[in-house]
Amino acid sequence: MIRTGPAGYPEGSRSPTDAVRKVRAAGLSALEIQFVRNVLYDPIKAGEARLEAKEGGVLLSVHAPYYINLNSSSPGTREKSEEWILRAMRGAEAFGAWMVVVHAATYGYDAERCTEKVVDSLRKVRDRADSESLNAVIGLETMGKKAVWGTVPEILEVMEEVPGVRPVVDFAHLQARGPPLNAERLQVLLNALSNVPRLHCHLSGIEFTAAGERKHLRLGEGLDHRMVLDALRDSGTEATVICESTSPMEDAQIIRRYLGQDI
Ligand SMILES: [Zn+2]
Repeated sequence: MIRTGPAGYPEGSRSPTDAVRKVRAAGLSALEIQFVRNVLYDPIKAGEARLEAKEGGVLLSVHAPYYINLNSSSPGTREKSEEWILRAMRGAEAFGAWMVVVHAATYGYDAERCTEKVVDSLRKVRDRADSESLNAVIGLETMGKKAVWGTVPEILEVMEEVPGVRPVVDFAHLQARGPPLNAERLQVLLNALSNVPRLHCHLSGIEFTAAGERKHLRLGEGLDHRMVLDALRDSGTEATVICESTSPMEDAQIIRRYLGQDI
């Protein structure tokens, strides 16, 4: 089954629980909670949303803050970045979210050792998370800007070194970074990831330049979402598709209808 849902609470949500209800009422089955600027939540309301999501069959994930850079030249920033991931993992635990999506690093001053730095930091994060019994897996997102760490081979390298790490396939970012996606490239990619249990994906339209991603757009703009969804369905992969377009609720419903899946 391919689960689909929005990035962020639906507009007009009065509480996290209400957001989960709105997602469910729209026939959707996933929701990514946005901790992208800060990790703020009321533990009681998070617990309520956790129950609502469980009962309603809505799979929750969270997106960690954008400020993370595990390859910063500043040890202080690296330490803070590790702390942001842990805080997002504590938030994920409160909501019962299974994954924390992370933008791990920029190439910056030391592109060559970037993957190594990501591995070192995530090992520390994983150890601390285990000692606090935080269950969420760390999802490393494929990034759309060429100056930013996060290609599929780089992410696979980290997965080999650190337990509890999974890829997050952002199709719009892959398109922006190039070469452009086509059916064959998608098939190769999904084959390479066929062992990943429940592949977590992001999908949106995209505007990009030679340097890669510029901004997310409505579904269908800059990337043929039908081609992506066909490839995903044909691969038989158990997946979650989080819609990160500029209208996540509407476009998530377009995805669901295209897949012909009602829950
Ligand atoms: Zn992201």
